[in-house]
Amino acid sequence: MSPIKLGCIADDFTGATALANNLVRAGMRVVQAMGVPAQPLDVDVDAVVVALKSRTVAPADAVAESLAALRWLQAQGAEQIYFKYCSTFDSTPKGNIGPVAEALMDALGTDFTIATPAFPDNGRTVFKGHLFVGEGLLNESGMQNHPLTPMTDPNLVRVLQAQCQRKVGLIDHKVVAQGAAAITAHIAALRADGVGLAVVDAVTNEDLVRMGPALKALPLLTAGSGVAIGLPANWGLAPSTQASALPPATGLQAVVSGSCSLATNRQVLAFIKAGRPAMAVDPLRIAAGIDVAAEALAWAQPLLAGGPVLVYSSADSNAVKSVQGRLGVEEAGAMVERTIAAIARGLVALGVRQLVVAGGETSGACVQALGITQMKIGTQIDPGVPWCHAASGVAGPEGLHITLKSGNFGTDDFFTKAFNQLSLS
Ligand code: ADP
Repeated sequence: MSPIKLGCIADDFTGATALANNLVRAGMRVVQAMGVPAQPLDVDVDAVVVALKSRTVAPADAVAESLAALRWLQAQGAEQIYFKYCSTFDSTPKGNIGPVAEALMDALGTDFTIATPAFPDNGRTVFKGHLFVGEGLLNESGMQNHPLTPMTDPNLVRVLQAQCQRKVGLIDHKVVAQGAAAITAHIAALRADGVGLAVVDAVTNEDLVRMGPALKALPLLTAGSGVAIGLPANWGLAPSTQASALPPATGLQAVVSGSCSLATNRQVLAFIKAGRPAMAVDPLRIAAGIDVAAEALAWAQPLLAGGPVLVYSSADSNAVKSVQGRLGVEEAGAMVERTIAAIARGLVALGVRQLVVAGGETSGACVQALGITQMKIGTQIDPGVPWCHAASGVAGPEGLHITLKSGNFGTDDFFTKAFNQLSLS
């Protein structure tokens, strides 16, 4: 194996995919690993994104997991490390962005890194150190009411300073607008001034691309997924179809959906309207002890040869609330996740090799049920949602194509579009 160029540590699963997607689009061949792999890498790629679930765990645990990921990435030869967090900077005064960033700085022996969640394609922009979500400031975006990480201050210098031992500074838009040389000079001045971490303004993709060359010499970057678009060029890589190449698609096609988000509900409806077979899973029947997974698989088996089928628990908010009222929120969620995951596993055992999974938590459950530990990232179907290829104990040696769509992503025709795209690639 050749050594990897960029080693990434993401603090959650879907965020890891969004970062991988941006790197692939900018020309890198990327693998996403679920957790810190137990084995050395066995494929030739430019970058690996290790997906952790460290966003809201205790800071000491987030640090320990991130350092374990760092050690594995270093063992694969990573020349630069990228710590990826949420583009709404989800954290509390205790962490975990600051403590993880500083622990990685210590481990890498570096006195300086940047911090910017800017991702203009998704409406996240940073101006004078303040984070905007769409048209408004972070603290007016709804994030101020987040149950775990309420973001009540849009000033990221202040937010990050509260989480850090080192001094936090700013590289503002006037410097960024002047380009890489000015940014490099400003970094030197901040370093001389004792600044350890600097928030960087970026309001457009051009800002992020301009930033790229100035970040080349830093051992550690901390950011949302936006900064990724300017990095592959530092290794002479340019966008190419080769970066997103996956093995040819084979086998049967299916969609499983445990997402009740508005976009997913529209996608389920569009798939049914397009005349494709679909079966609804009723949580109350699962709760009554009926083997709903076996029913769904018996229903799907004769239909699969005729094209993609859908099994869904997706429902509107009233139906979900009524089920949650009877079964409990967590109990209902876990039960449906287990059932959808068992159906995904059964479908793959029946020969499905092109699988669309809708729902963030649902995706986690399905990936686990399929024994997937690593995915090669392919072309984007819709922003933030690429096709991937993964080995799976259930699929056999050829593996399967899988796409994990979190709730509100994707156009209404996402399900059919995804299969059409795969047949063209
Ligand atoms: P999203 O990405 O849209 O948030 P997730 O899969 O992350 O989707 O979360 C949806 C949650 O709702 C899961 O825990 C799932 O098991 C649960 N769920 C799905 N369908 C139903 C339903 N009909 N009633 C109650 N809970 C449901």
